[in-house]
Amino acid sequence: MTLTGYRILLISTPVGPLGSGLGGGVELFVTNAVQALTQRGHHITVLAPEGSVLPVAETLIPFAGSYQPTAHTSDRDSPVIMPEPSVLSAMWDYARQVQDAFDIILHYAYDWLPFYLAPFLRIPVAHYVTMGSLNDGMDHIIAHAAHTIPHSVGLCTRVQAATFPAADRYEIIGCSVDLERYEYCDTPGQDLVWLGRISPEKGLEDAIAAAQMSQMPLKILGKLENEAYWHDLQYRYPDAPIEYLGFFATQEMQAIVRNCRALLMTPKWVEAFGNVAIEALACGVPVIAYRRGGPTEIVQHGKTGWLVEPDSVGGLVEAIHRIDGIDRAACRAHVVANFSIATLGDRLEHWFQILLNSPEPKSPNSGLHSALS
Ligand code: UDP
Repeated sequence: MTLTGYRILLISTPVGPLGSGLGGGVELFVTNAVQALTQRGHHITVLAPEGSVLPVAETLIPFAGSYQPTAHTSDRDSPVIMPEPSVLSAMWDYARQVQDAFDIILHYAYDWLPFYLAPFLRIPVAHYVTMGSLNDGMDHIIAHAAHTIPHSVGLCTRVQAATFPAADRYEIIGCSVDLERYEYCDTPGQDLVWLGRISPEKGLEDAIAAAQMSQMPLKILGKLENEAYWHDLQYRYPDAPIEYLGFFATQEMQAIVRNCRALLMTPKWVEAFGNVAIEALACGVPVIAYRRGGPTEIVQHGKTGWLVEPDSVGGLVEAIHRIDGIDRAACRAHVVANFSIATLGDRLEHWFQILLNSPEPKSPNSGLHSALS
């Protein structure tokens, strides 16, 4: 098999159409993978829920059906859920039928089914996992997949890997941004910005509290995922200098973000990566983030932003006051060097090469119920 020209069947997230914001960061993962692999001369066919849009040219096959529930809204012991008619099962049924026209399947579902199905297919499956450990059943099947088919599971960061059993079994692939879609700005206004799904695990309340304490205006952009949570925040912080602008496509979003002084990232969970960090840095916007999860592998403390003790609003305020110590050009340069589409293409291609050259699976799914070390 040559290094270029793989025929790749990419199966998108089943939690919603690409471009809707329902998938959060995974939508950017998919878009960038399509772009990175297309640039390398690979041939990509994308299966995705109906209504999906991709800003890059490729073959997109839409599927109707009910979306999967998002994993961050389930409990550790939640069972596997398949809402019928399931868009997830429809996409994988199609994949089974057309598999012989492809060299490899790359998928982005944080769902049990694809991990279970992979050994039944004739072509290798690369599982790209974009969230940390949230559910016992998923932990088990992810670790099992990495054990039975070595190199088949890719993650975003080492800190994300550490949340799963057998942390050393995963390939670390990361994410990227298309630098041409993010304009650099050296002359920001006074506003801070917070970006992301408005949902409790994202910890927006701490960013609002920091804006209130520092009396710095905060712009909020992103999908309003949990309305009760958002209403509660408005009730708790009636006088905070905040403005919710809505959810924007990348072009409009970066036009607002680039004029801001800093991005605040205040997650309460172990963020697997944190795409918003590299998107802000690409615009030259420093990142103030809790020292927790993916941002610790993106933000260079004192150079491209400040890493703050987790859950310390006082720490955020202190970092806000020190934001002028960060050189905005260094922020963009860090993304150019480490998070470009070309670097993602290198990592994906290397991953596929290893997987396609791997020996046969160690054991079939019959071993699934045995204890995993
Ligand atoms: N985002 C967007 N429009 C907005 C706000 C956010 O498209 O108005 C996107 C942002 O570009 C990022 C994603 O939402 O790609 C959030 O991803 P992240 O990895 O930060 O968090 P996740 O949602 O995966 O937990």
